[in-house]
Amino acid sequence: MSAKLILIVEDEHAIRQMIAFGLRRAGFDVREAMDCREARQSLADQRPDLLLIDWMLPDMSGLELTRTIKRDRHTRELPIILLTARAGEGDKVTGLDSGADDYVTKPFSPRELLARIHAVLRRSGTAALDHVVEFEALRLDQQGQRVTVDGQTVPLGPTEYRMLEFFMTHPERVFSREQLLDRLWGGNVYVEERTIDVHVRRLRKSLEKYGLDCLVQTVRGSGYRFSAKTH
Ligand code: CA
Repeated sequence: MSAKLILIVEDEHAIRQMIAFGLRRAGFDVREAMDCREARQSLADQRPDLLLIDWMLPDMSGLELTRTIKRDRHTRELPIILLTARAGEGDKVTGLDSGADDYVTKPFSPRELLARIHAVLRRSGTAALDHVVEFEALRLDQQGQRVTVDGQTVPLGPTEYRMLEFFMTHPERVFSREQLLDRLWGGNVYVEERTIDVHVRRLRKSLEKYGLDCLVQTVRGSGYRFSAKTH
């Protein structure tokens, strides 16, 4: 099993470093974001297993970021622990109302934080098992690695499945062939960019009979985008 990935969103460098250090030592993979903008970029790039979000951030409050994440069907399953210096009981309720899974008040010991993280990960373990992504009529079951439309399985090769999973979890964004190669083949330099076109063609063919091939859109001169809108 690979290490769990935790995204830390905290603008205070020293605190972020301290948390990151403790988590890495405990065997977690860590990514860091200084503000909500960076956190969003990081989320689009790689799905973490848990987020630690500081309440006070420079561009948007951690509370608002938590709400945004919990409102989005692609990210709402992600467990979130809010970090804050506000110890008031009212704040605690607001924090949990935002959808955060737990709430840790500063100053906290690295041990306390770790215990909370493990507890939240344990609780969310079962929810993560039946993670389902839906887009238009498509229903993708990440656990069963299966895509269905109205209960019918869409036949997909393993690469087409991965491609569709990536598209469904990153809709409405244009990706260049190079970016898709990076994400789907891990930057394997021996795969040519043309390969992407071959798999896109196959994916469209699989979606064609459901009238959903139009979701995989070619963006002239740029790459591909997964969208239900006509641009
Ligand atoms: Ca802060």
